[in-house]
Amino acid sequence: MLTIWRQQRANRVGRALAVSGIFLASIATIADLFWSDISVVATDIILLLGCAVSAHWLNREDRPKYFWWPAFGTFWISSLPSFWTTGGLDSPFFGLGLCALYVIGAVMEPEGRSPYYFLFALAHIPVFFVIEKIHPLSTSPNIPILFTSIITALLLCAVYVCLEAMLRTENELSLEFSEHYENIKKAESDLKQREAQLREAQSIANVGSWEWDLRADRISWSDELFKIYDVDPKTFDHSFEAYLDRLNPQMREKIESIIQESVSTGRDFSFENTISTSRGKRDIFSRGRAVRDDSGRVVKMLGTTQDITDRKRIESELTTARGELEARVEERTQQLAQSLEREKAAKEIAENASLAKMQFLANMSHEIRTPMNSILGFTELLKEEGHSTDQFNDYLARIRDNGSQLLHLIDDILDLSKFEAGNIPIRKSNFALKTLIGNIVDSFLPAIKNKGIHLELKFAKDITDSVFTDSNRISQILTNLLSNAIKFSEKGEIQIEVATKTMSDGLHFIFDIEDTGLGISLENQQKLFQPFSQGDSSVGRKFGGSGLGLALSKRIAEALGGDLKLQKSVPGMGSHFRLDIPINPAKENVVETPVPEEKHIEEPNLRGKTILLVEDSPDNAFLISHFLKTLGVQIDLASDGLQAVEATKKKTYDCILMDIQMPGMDGLEATRTIRKNGFQNPIIALTAHALAKEAERSFQAGCNVHLTKPISRKELIQTLSEQIRSPLEASL
Ligand code: ADP
Repeated sequence: MLTIWRQQRANRVGRALAVSGIFLASIATIADLFWSDISVVATDIILLLGCAVSAHWLNREDRPKYFWWPAFGTFWISSLPSFWTTGGLDSPFFGLGLCALYVIGAVMEPEGRSPYYFLFALAHIPVFFVIEKIHPLSTSPNIPILFTSIITALLLCAVYVCLEAMLRTENELSLEFSEHYENIKKAESDLKQREAQLREAQSIANVGSWEWDLRADRISWSDELFKIYDVDPKTFDHSFEAYLDRLNPQMREKIESIIQESVSTGRDFSFENTISTSRGKRDIFSRGRAVRDDSGRVVKMLGTTQDITDRKRIESELTTARGELEARVEERTQQLAQSLEREKAAKEIAENASLAKMQFLANMSHEIRTPMNSILGFTELLKEEGHSTDQFNDYLARIRDNGSQLLHLIDDILDLSKFEAGNIPIRKSNFALKTLIGNIVDSFLPAIKNKGIHLELKFAKDITDSVFTDSNRISQILTNLLSNAIKFSEKGEIQIEVATKTMSDGLHFIFDIEDTGLGISLENQQKLFQPFSQGDSSVGRKFGGSGLGLALSKRIAEALGGDLKLQKSVPGMGSHFRLDIPINPAKENVVETPVPEEKHIEEPNLRGKTILLVEDSPDNAFLISHFLKTLGVQIDLASDGLQAVEATKKKTYDCILMDIQMPGMDGLEATRTIRKNGFQNPIIALTAHALAKEAERSFQAGCNVHLTKPISRKELIQTLSEQIRSPLEASL
């Protein structure tokens, strides 16, 4: 820094020296041409040349550091003759010339070696002192040369001290200055760096800063703010009005009032706004702070504006996502609640079903054990001796009645399963309705009488006696309804009314059965037609029954194209059931299966015929053999399928009676094998399996007929005679 400073000084002083040197040397040359000798003129010309060289070097870009030496050197050379000619040590130019040489050298020296120039100037004094001694030059002989030498040296020393002090001061000042300069430069570079960092931070955060000088109405923006607003800084209008014009017009009034309020109250403000840019609509968020002067007046607003478009978009996406999530959670919660409800309901149903099952098993056990007990009891009695024929017949009749009761129960269960499986066992025929109902009522007369119940049977006048529907099924329903009415009435009255009603599908019979008995609670009315339901368990215990009657009756009524409903029931007051059956339903909906007429069978002539009875139960085998004993047929026994197959290999039979469920090879397998071996004669399945599907399986295996146990002797003989007579004809 100091070197530059000295160099600058040398340049300026050097220019003045060179120019003035050229000027003075030129004048001196001209003057000396007239008044001096040629040697003086020569020194003038040398000085002129030296100054010219220095001036030339000064003007060059690559000027040498010591460009002033030619001027300095030629000045020294040209001053020597004037010292010489004007009196040496006494010369008025001597002291001044030495001082000038020293001052010029010290001022121009860029490296600060001013003492050298002082010594150089000082060295002239002894040199001239010696010259004076050898060749006196002095023009004032009275003044001793030592004195003038000392005076000149003191003068030079004084100049040296002064100049050194000045140069030192200059040196110190320049050091101080350069220190300040360095500090300023560093502060400037720090400031620039911070500004760059601030710009970078604003760019990263998408935040611009602004300042509004209220007095000058001048708004200044940071670079980032220009980017956010998409405004060219060169065409930027700094006024507040122009700022308001850039806002969303709908927001302008509101924002202006927010800012004006802040100006008047000095409170901070913030607002969101939308601006239009070449990148589309942008959402921005501005904050501002008022700056007051010493008097407390708001003179300036400072603030920031942030581009929050992305944040707003993410917020809105998040809100949508949260909404969707909440909706899904809500939906899932509802689903869970529903599934819990369903689970609860299913559990309840399962518990009810299990309860109903237990109740059903208990009822069944009761319903089976009761007739069983009678059968076994009377059978025991029969073993005893000494019974009269009447007693004997009475026991037998009781055994048969209880057996029929059991069979009835089993039939009900089978019927229900047939309905459940969709196989509707309906056989329609023409029959006399009034007679049928009369017979049913008659069969209950003893029970009615026993209980002291009054029964009234009314037929509407227009009732036609002959109807076409399934008499057995009608009888089954009415029997069930009437037996319930009697069972659940301790006394009072039962009314049966039969009427007709014309409906859209033809004429219907309406059977109303009303009693004044126990009645049915509202809760039990709901499950009345469900199979195995019996009101509450106490009903089953008290009155017996399987809980199948109404369920079966309703299904039968529906299968006949009608319906069975509980019209009304009040606990303690009685019940009213209504059966509605179409009498002449449209023909195409009717599956007409005429009831096989009761044939009077004469004992067929099967004498000499051979029958293979395949039966694993010795009792059944004995019973069936016993049934056929009187016919004079020859019966061979096989106790399983394998024995049957072996037997048919050894002998040809006219007919095989085949049990289906047997240990080892069952009846179906045996039938298939026997048919495969070429057996052509009839095979009659004789089984306790009563469902339609099972009959189907028997036919598929190769049986001609499927008979279900228990079988009566009459039915067995009739089937045998039909099959043995003409199996083909019989199966048609
Ligand atoms: P069950 O063979 O047990 O009588 P039902 O299906 O015929 O079976 O009847 C089911 C239940 O309906 C009965 O256990 C009883 O609780 C109720 N019920 C049926 N008919 C009547 C009636 N006339 N009066 C009172 N309760 C009845």
